Amino acid sequence: MIRSGKFTDKKILLLDKEPKTKNDRTWCFWEKENGFFDEIVYRKWDTISFFGDNFSSPMDIAPYQYKMIRGIDFYGYCFAAIKKQENIEIKYAAIGEWFMQEEEATFILDGLPYSVGRPTVFNSIYEPAKKNENIIRLLQHFKGWVIETDRPFFHPEQATMMDFRVSQQHGTTFAYVLPFSATTALVEYTLFTKNLLEPHQYDDGLKEYIHSFLEISNYTIKEEEFGVIPMTNEKHSFDGHGWQIGTAGGQTKASSGYTFQFIQKQSQQIVECLLSGRSLALIPATPKRFRFYDNTLLDILYNDTLPGKQIFTQLFKKNNPQQVLRFLDNESSLKEELKIIATLPTWPFFKAALKQL
Ligand SMILES: Cc1cc2nc3c(=O)[nH]c(=O)nc-3n(C[C@H](O)[C@H](O)[C@H](O)COP(=O)(O)OP(=O)(O)OC[C@H]3O[C@@H](n4cnc5c(N)ncnc54)[C@H](O)[C@@H]3O)c2cc1C
Repeated sequence: MIRSGKFTDKKILLLDKEPKTKNDRTWCFWEKENGFFDEIVYRKWDTISFFGDNFSSPMDIAPYQYKMIRGIDFYGYCFAAIKKQENIEIKYAAIGEWFMQEEEATFILDGLPYSVGRPTVFNSIYEPAKKNENIIRLLQHFKGWVIETDRPFFHPEQATMMDFRVSQQHGTTFAYVLPFSATTALVEYTLFTKNLLEPHQYDDGLKEYIHSFLEISNYTIKEEEFGVIPMTNEKHSFDGHGWQIGTAGGQTKASSGYTFQFIQKQSQQIVECLLSGRSLALIPATPKRFRFYDNTLLDILYNDTLPGKQIFTQLFKKNNPQQVLRFLDNESSLKEELKIIATLPTWPFFKAALKQL
């Protein structure tokens, strides 16, 4: 909205419970061209590696690049731009609840009502739906360490997207490695399971991976991050309690947890709509067939019908990586999707698909 320069006559209120001062997340995504946030891309890689049981390979993903943005750089960049705008007010307070009444929205901020006249409300507060028997809810949870070694160990030109050689005792588990230099990398230990682990189990997983697979014994932990992303077949619509954006608006891909690029695409559509005076209600939802694929895979992972390790290995072994990335971006054609689906074990997918239908 700021970059368009067309909203300077609007009053914008940004509400958040606290300022963004921590490097609390690292975003990875892929794109073909220079993107909206290219200035703050911290590292990018042309090659990504996959490690499974019977298939391991570096994959050249051109014309895509795998990109990484550090949370703290993103917040710094955005707030530097926001703070230059006289029409944007920032208010830090926890929103207890909020409601619309006639021409007014009232927010309960730190327990006190605060009213705004005639607003368009964009809401990114994620609220899980009430549980019912059809709702599948998995968690993608991970812990990462930025580690530094005294000798060169990493290949800075190559990131590891998924390494499934780690123990699968807790369910679908993989590690990934984002090298910043020959001696520094972010190493993440990630699970797709129903419950979180005990804190020490993430540390054990990281230590084991670094020792057994990266074969590094001397290193210093420089930073750490922990995160949980919901993976669910719940429908979080754009048109909900206000215009719901981000994870709250269904922009987290249920079967992978990737969200960043979906948010950027939706943000672009929102701005285009506002500029052209079209109704926001016209912004298309995630196509039904992609929700169906996601929910089918989620069903399989949730019920442990097939190990995630086997599914992702088949996916990368039997398809070219550009096609897989396009599929994961919800940008493939039906023909490509049928080809990809044909490379996966038919019967378990067919049964899970019937249930999701
Ligand atoms: C550690 C981590 C790593 C991730 N890595 C990736 C990745 O590599 N690639 C990818 O595509 N996705 C990734 N994701 C998923 C997703 O991109 C992020 O979660 C992203 O930040 C979602 O954006 P959002 O705007 O929906 O939510 P958030 O960024 O979480 O923003 C929600 C905002 O609402 C505020 N808020 C919440 N409740 C209240 C309240 N009651 N009152 C006031 N304010 C409130 C919060 O303070 C926050 O600022 C990651 C997520 C995490 C947690």
